[in-house]
Amino acid sequence: MARGAYSEQEITITNCDREPIHIIGKAQEHGVIMICDMDTLSVSQCSENVENILGFNHESILGEPLKQVLPKKVAKSFKRKLKNNESLLPEKFKVGDQKFICIPSISQELLILDIEPSGKSLDPVRFQEQLTKILTELNDAESVNDMCQQAALLVKHLFDYDRIMIYKFDEDWNGEVVAEVKEPDLDSWLGLHYPATDIPKPARDIFMKQGVRIISDVNYKASPIIPEISPITGQPSDISSSELRAVSPIHIEYLQNMNVAASLTAAIILNGELWGLVACHNATPKFINYHQRQSCLFLTQVFSNKLALKTTNLFLDKTSASNEIRKKLVLQMTSIHNIVDALCKFEPAFTDIVDCGGGAIVKGGELCTYGDTPAISEIVQLCNNFLVNKGTYFSSKSLSNVYPEASKFKDKASGILSTRFGDEKEDYIIWFRPEAKETVSWGGNPTKQGYIKDGVEYLTPRKSFERWAEKVSGIAKPWEEYDYEAVSKLRESIIHILVKKQKDEIYSLNDRLVDANKELEAFSYSVSHDLRAPLRGIDGYARILKDHYMDRLDDYSKKAVNTIVRSAGEMDTMIDDILSYSKVGQTQLSKQLLSIKQIAANAIEAQNAENNYPNTSIKLDENLPKAVGDRRMISQLINNLISNALKYSSKEEYPAVEISFFREKEQNVYFIKDNGVGFDPKHQEKIFELFSRVASKDYMGSGIGLSIAKKVVDKHNGQLWVETEPGKGSTFFFILPDLEE
Ligand code: ADP
Repeated sequence: MARGAYSEQEITITNCDREPIHIIGKAQEHGVIMICDMDTLSVSQCSENVENILGFNHESILGEPLKQVLPKKVAKSFKRKLKNNESLLPEKFKVGDQKFICIPSISQELLILDIEPSGKSLDPVRFQEQLTKILTELNDAESVNDMCQQAALLVKHLFDYDRIMIYKFDEDWNGEVVAEVKEPDLDSWLGLHYPATDIPKPARDIFMKQGVRIISDVNYKASPIIPEISPITGQPSDISSSELRAVSPIHIEYLQNMNVAASLTAAIILNGELWGLVACHNATPKFINYHQRQSCLFLTQVFSNKLALKTTNLFLDKTSASNEIRKKLVLQMTSIHNIVDALCKFEPAFTDIVDCGGGAIVKGGELCTYGDTPAISEIVQLCNNFLVNKGTYFSSKSLSNVYPEASKFKDKASGILSTRFGDEKEDYIIWFRPEAKETVSWGGNPTKQGYIKDGVEYLTPRKSFERWAEKVSGIAKPWEEYDYEAVSKLRESIIHILVKKQKDEIYSLNDRLVDANKELEAFSYSVSHDLRAPLRGIDGYARILKDHYMDRLDDYSKKAVNTIVRSAGEMDTMIDDILSYSKVGQTQLSKQLLSIKQIAANAIEAQNAENNYPNTSIKLDENLPKAVGDRRMISQLINNLISNALKYSSKEEYPAVEISFFREKEQNVYFIKDNGVGFDPKHQEKIFELFSRVASKDYMGSGIGLSIAKKVVDKHNGQLWVETEPGKGSTFFFILPDLEE
């Protein structure tokens, strides 16, 4: 929109938020806006009223050096500061009897000068007194609202406008008058709300930037800046930094409709965001000079700081109260097995952590409610149809706005704050807030701000400021920062406890498993041991039959006696194996440096290889390195591997067994290789399990040897594995780490 076009064109609500008020190219009547080239310091644009205020014809000063227009010392001071990159400060000067102040600012490489009557500067002693007063009174205020009331009183005292208001924005930028000090004949606007459109975004942005802004006479005649387009930039100049900049015609009309003739507005900024405004109205024109505006700016800054402190303290108080409750809940959760019971069935309950009407916990498909909540079926639907699509946290002060079904239970749950927890995606904790049965008093009907013509909504600044009451429906008290903090901390604690509980369960399962294993080993040891005696009886008597009575037996009985003797032998080996298996589990390691070569040689000898496997070529590596381990156990390991290699290659034409090693990753890898039957590699892991056999019946065995081998290696923290191929042979590898820690 072109500069100066407002009067000719109606303004729509849609374009209102885009209103380019930063380039409204006009000055308020009481001062001059002069724009200079920053390099040459010559005047490039100037408001027309320069003639009335400083006595120059505006045409005559365009293009002139600043030092020809303003006193030389002023121009010189700006020039020096610009050259040295110092911050520019206001300069005072006199024209005739009149005192002026020139307030500089920089925008788009242009020097913008606001020249206005300087008025009286502040007496430093009085200022000091005022400051002390401000600080004490704000310090004494009990609540934020009290603080606002104190601040309004101070501003009234300092600047004496007819009405001083502290105006606070809500999250939708609607405003509420939270404090007011006024002349007795005026109606009170305290508690009134104003819709967000009353102070549109561009105006809010300017407040953030400028801090304090006055309109000295709402009915002023704005003075245009000439020329309209800057000869330096080729665009209208951005004069948003100018305090003299003319005001949006919409705003002027708005103030006129309120019967306001002069205003002062100061931004209250909290943690970098616009929290609210100090808004001052006067029924007659009123000018507040630069020094007074500065002290107002200072006051608002002090107020903002105190406000930040107060809200931080409130946050800390609330957080410490919820922390106390959370600690008790944690205690309940750690002492009661069922977390849901711990949170719902005792004092305090999870609902005590924030201010709410009731709540629900959904865990592992179960639902537990506490306090005033929607029906169980409604909560289930809410979770399944709505919350399931939300993230870890969800909150709303008006659930029915985003989930229309909620209008049925708005009396119980207009507000909702929920979080997920636990492993299940569907585990939630939900807090509900009832509808705040409030009536909002608007300053005028907030919805009637415009009219629609040809499908476009046109804005007319509201004319009526009568109290207009609206019943708020489906809206709960908003969730505050400290509510989110309490919920997120509780969630962390629950997750922590759940993880700990899982860990404890795993540990206790593990302990039970170890105990059971030990018991089993002890049991198999004693069983095997006890089996020995009767077996000896069976074997002894069968041998007596075989040696002395065989000739008296028929063929069938002879076969039976032979089977008894053979089976007793097999059973004896099996008992031996089981005994050694359980012994490995039960005995402590007695470590020493062992010659693996010697142990392997002994094993070959023990197998009586020369006689039992005469065809087998056995290659024992001369350089087999030593290793640290338990002599008995390592002998058992090597024995089992060598005896298997001999056994499972015995039926080959040229059986060959090799016992050797190689170095890998600075470790000795020993191996026993044969060219025997091998087996399907899919059994690579299984063969190390107890009683697991994959060989054909042609090869006798108990299926225990490799389990013993595995147990021995595990006890030594080593590794044992096999590479094999059916018909090609197998290689068993093992590593024994140095155990000498
Ligand atoms: P077994 O007493 O049956 O030999 P092990 O526990 O020593 O019991 O071995 C388990 C199974 O692993 C064996 O039954 C056999 O199927 C397989 N196995 C072990 N060593 C070899 C080997 N060197 N070659 C082929 N198969 C083997």
